[in-house]
Amino acid sequence: MRVAVFSTKPYDRQYLSETNAAFGHELVFFEPRLDLSTAPLADGFPAVCVFVNDQLDRPLLTHLASTGTRLIALRCAGFNNVDLVAAAELGIEVVRVPAYSPHAVAEFTVALLLALDRRIPRAWARVRDNNFALDGLIGNDLYGKTIGVVGTGRIGGLVARCLKLGFGCRVLAFDQWQDPALVEIGIEYRPLDEVLTAADILTLHCPLTPETHHLVDAGAIERAQPGFLLINTSRGALIDAEALVDGLKSGKVGGVALDVYEQEADLFFEDLSNEIIQDDVFQRLLTFPNVLVTGHQAFLTAEALMAISETTLDNIAAFEAGGVLENRVVVQAVVGH
Ligand code: NAD
Repeated sequence: MRVAVFSTKPYDRQYLSETNAAFGHELVFFEPRLDLSTAPLADGFPAVCVFVNDQLDRPLLTHLASTGTRLIALRCAGFNNVDLVAAAELGIEVVRVPAYSPHAVAEFTVALLLALDRRIPRAWARVRDNNFALDGLIGNDLYGKTIGVVGTGRIGGLVARCLKLGFGCRVLAFDQWQDPALVEIGIEYRPLDEVLTAADILTLHCPLTPETHHLVDAGAIERAQPGFLLINTSRGALIDAEALVDGLKSGKVGGVALDVYEQEADLFFEDLSNEIIQDDVFQRLLTFPNVLVTGHQAFLTAEALMAISETTLDNIAAFEAGGVLENRVVVQAVVGH
C-alpha cells in the first residue's frame, strides 16, 4: 500500500524501512508534521501514517478524505489528537498501536523519579564542573513512601508493581477498573481524591480524556501533601502547567519530572537550540532547580520502535487486505500512547 509517513525522524525511517522488508508497502517519508500546510504532500495516498503531535482535526481530515485518503495509521497508542467523529463521518478508518513496550515507558518513569528525587542531573552538572560539594543534593528514600498511581493499565500497572515490590513503597492507585493481580500484591485502590491527597509521589498513567484534562490543577495541588513529587509520562494536559508553576513557587510542589507537556506540539521532537522559545510557562518551569523535563522520550527504546513499526505496518496490511482491523480506533473508546 502507498503510505505517506509524516513527522519522521531518522530512527522512524530506520525501523520502519527495516521492518517493511517483510511487508512491501510503498513508504514515502516526510519530515514535517502533518497540518493543513503540509497535507498536500499526502494527496493521492490511500494511507497516512502519523505520530503523537500531528493534529488531525476536521479541516485536515476533510482535506485528506477529498484527496483519497482512507486510512490513518497512528504510530502510537493515544488518539486524543484525532477527531474520531469527523474521521468516521468522512469514511476514514483510524488504527493505532495499542501496546508496544509498556516496559519502555514504565522504566523511564521510575528513572525520572529517581533522577528527580536524588538530584542526579544537578549532581552530574556539578561534577562536570569539578564541583564535588553535596549541599543541595539531599534526596529521600523511596522505601516506605506513599506513591499515588493514577491509571493502572499496562504502564501504570508496571510502575505500581516496580515501586511496590522493588522499592518497598506503599502504593495507592486509582482506576475505574481494578486489576486483581495488583490487589494481590498489596496495591491499594482508593478514590481519586484520596490518592491525590495522600501521595508523597504522584505518577500519572491514565489517558487524556475530557474527564482527565487538568486532573492535577490548582485545587488538587492545594489538597496534596506538602512537598509532594509529581511525575508525568502520560499526556501533558493532565496537568495545568500554570497551576504547577504556582505550586513550585510556593513550595507546595516539591519537585516535578515531566516527559510530556500540554503545549509540547510547538516544542518537542525538534532541535530548537538556536530559537527563542515563546512559551513563557514552559520557560518558567525550566528555571526551577527541582524540575526535570525530557522531550517525550519515554517510549524510545529499540524494542518499542521495533514493535511500533511491526504493528503499524501490520495494521496497514490488514486494511489493504480488507480484513478485520484489530487495532481500529472507534469513537466511543476511552483507552489511550
Ligand atoms: P492503558 O490503556 O493500558 O491504561 C490506561 C489506564 O487508565 C486504564 O487502566 C484505564 O482504565 C485507566 N483510565 C482511564 N480513564 C481513567 C481516569 N479517568 N482515571 C484513572 N484511570 C483511568 O494505557 P497505557 O499503555 O498504560 O498508557 C498510559 C498512558 O501513557 C497513555 O494514555 C499515554 O497517554 C501515555 N504514554 C506515553 C508515552 C511516552 O512516550 N511518554 C508512551 C506511551 C504511552
